Amino acid sequence: MSIFEHQDFDNHETVVFARDQASGLRAIIALHSTRLGPATGGCRLWAYDSEADALKDALRLSRGMSFKNAAAGLNLGGGKGVIMLEPGQSKTPELMRAFGRAVERLNGAYITAEDVGVDTDDMAEVRTETRHVTGLADGALASGDPSPVTARGVFESMKTAARLVLKRESLAGRHVAVQGLGHVGWRLCELLNADGASLTVADINGEHLEKAQVAFDAGIADTKDIHKIDCDIFAPCALGGILTRQTVPEVRARLIVGAANNQLAEESLAGALQERGITYLPDFIVNAGGIMNAAAEIEGVVAKSWIEEKLSGLQDQIERILEHAAVESRPPHQIAIEIAGKRLAMAR
Ligand code: NAD
Repeated sequence: MSIFEHQDFDNHETVVFARDQASGLRAIIALHSTRLGPATGGCRLWAYDSEADALKDALRLSRGMSFKNAAAGLNLGGGKGVIMLEPGQSKTPELMRAFGRAVERLNGAYITAEDVGVDTDDMAEVRTETRHVTGLADGALASGDPSPVTARGVFESMKTAARLVLKRESLAGRHVAVQGLGHVGWRLCELLNADGASLTVADINGEHLEKAQVAFDAGIADTKDIHKIDCDIFAPCALGGILTRQTVPEVRARLIVGAANNQLAEESLAGALQERGITYLPDFIVNAGGIMNAAAEIEGVVAKSWIEEKLSGLQDQIERILEHAAVESRPPHQIAIEIAGKRLAMAR
């Protein structure tokens, strides 16, 4: 497998393969860019079908973090770690500590945090081996689990898009289809339910579905069909790549606003959605709440008001992107990429 010729290789500065035989660690850490600061992005733990899938994920996710951090105005570069679980292998403290040692060997060029499959307890294990970690639960500056702030950002982004695109002042009475009821998806459902939206949900975990039926009176969809639900907003909050050449023609929502990273399987699908009259808000803009929360810990900011200001700036940015997109009849995704690209180009 050639890495330099890989279709997702975007001149990443460094790609590291980490192995620790004793704990069973097999990980890839990709540093897309350190132009704006240390490459920062979560660690994903997943049972990938192949090493090629894990590499693709690490390359795409780390590039996405460069754009996310740049667009959010943070002085952080883009990086991501993925831990590949083998069939039958489970997460252990030893595994997370071995990952921590791999992060430590990068000498601060990469700062890790939580992502899918990883929580604050895991980050506490990582912290025993390296200080280049954020999203900790304990400590004077600890920012904790970033998911609630991510969910808040997604929720506020939905409200902004509903106001500008659907011409609705609130989400009350809107129907939202949520894919994935994990840390972010569940919190998002709580906020939507409290605001009077009705919910249809899908998850591979049956327990989450049962809980959602009870807590939100949510309708249940098959995981293969959630994108086809006739609703106002589709919120992908599971893994990436849900918007493909096959699924895009099947989407019936007017808006797509969700937390999952890399929702578009191919960049060109932003145009296909636009042609269908569907407004897709760029994932890396909408889901930046979590990294803003982590950035507060990295910058040593304790004040909650700092994050609130960032979240409110995020809504101003979405307004500008949507207005710009409407005037130029271009996908919001393209405009967001340009905003991030300009900031990256200006950085030394
Ligand atoms: P999580 O692991 O807590 O939850 C993911 C949920 O998706 C789980 O409930 C899982 O069962 C479900 N799922 C997996 N595959 C599915 C499928 N095919 N169909 C339906 N459900 C499926 O992860 P999370 O922290 O909630 O993150 C969700 C997404 O948001 C990820 O893509 C993550 O990268 C992104 N994200 C998270 C944060 C954060 O703060 N946690 C920040 C930015 C982006």
